[in-house]
Amino acid sequence: MSGLAPGIVRIPTRGDGDNCFLVEEEDGLTLVDVGWKNAPIVIRQAVEAAGRTLNDITRIVITHAHPDHVRGLAELLARTGGADVFIHELEQPWLAAGRVSPHGRSGALGRAIDHLPLLHWQPVAATRTVTNGQAIGSLRVIHTPGHSPGHIVLLHEPTRTLLVGDAVFHRSGLTIGPAALAADPAARPASLLRMPRDVRAVGFAHGQPLSGERISAFHDFCQAIEDTAARH
Ligand SMILES: [Zn+2]
Ligand SMILES: [Zn+2]
Repeated sequence: MSGLAPGIVRIPTRGDGDNCFLVEEEDGLTLVDVGWKNAPIVIRQAVEAAGRTLNDITRIVITHAHPDHVRGLAELLARTGGADVFIHELEQPWLAAGRVSPHGRSGALGRAIDHLPLLHWQPVAATRTVTNGQAIGSLRVIHTPGHSPGHIVLLHEPTRTLLVGDAVFHRSGLTIGPAALAADPAARPASLLRMPRDVRAVGFAHGQPLSGERISAFHDFCQAIEDTAARH
């Protein structure tokens, strides 16, 4: 657990590479993504270390319905005492089906792995669906299709912190991830251009966050994508 910006905590749920985020609001805590099946234990420890309980989580926002983000959702939800679950309307059916749709991956590899029971999850009925531009507390929804059709990025407006989910990975350098696992790889650059540039910190679902002077790496990455897109 570590502070990413005032009011935002990063919770690594598997090693130090896979993250969910806790956002403090006046009326409770918002959790952005969950993680694999073991994530609820780690999240509970982090929430309690911050002097709160899982009951304080009033909203759970899912950036997209991939197993590494939602496999722990049903269990965590049951422990919150009734948090609202938010997801983009295009992926609400996936969340309720307990697996990625057969149309959810562009490559054979992606479709093959989605048959594995390990990548299925206990179905969850979202209580709220979201669309582009909507506010969820202090978070602004930006619809960024490509990695998945209903993928969303969240801008924490008070601190200009961007939580990018799987729109950008920060594993070995910044990338937009493997095409075979994305629903519509060609849509990803345009989605990247929809994300605001004037941000002070970036939280990735996979990889270390960027803030302070290191944020320039994110700006350079977005600029390079924009330059490439302009040439085509
Ligand atoms: Zn994903
Ligand atoms: Zn992911």
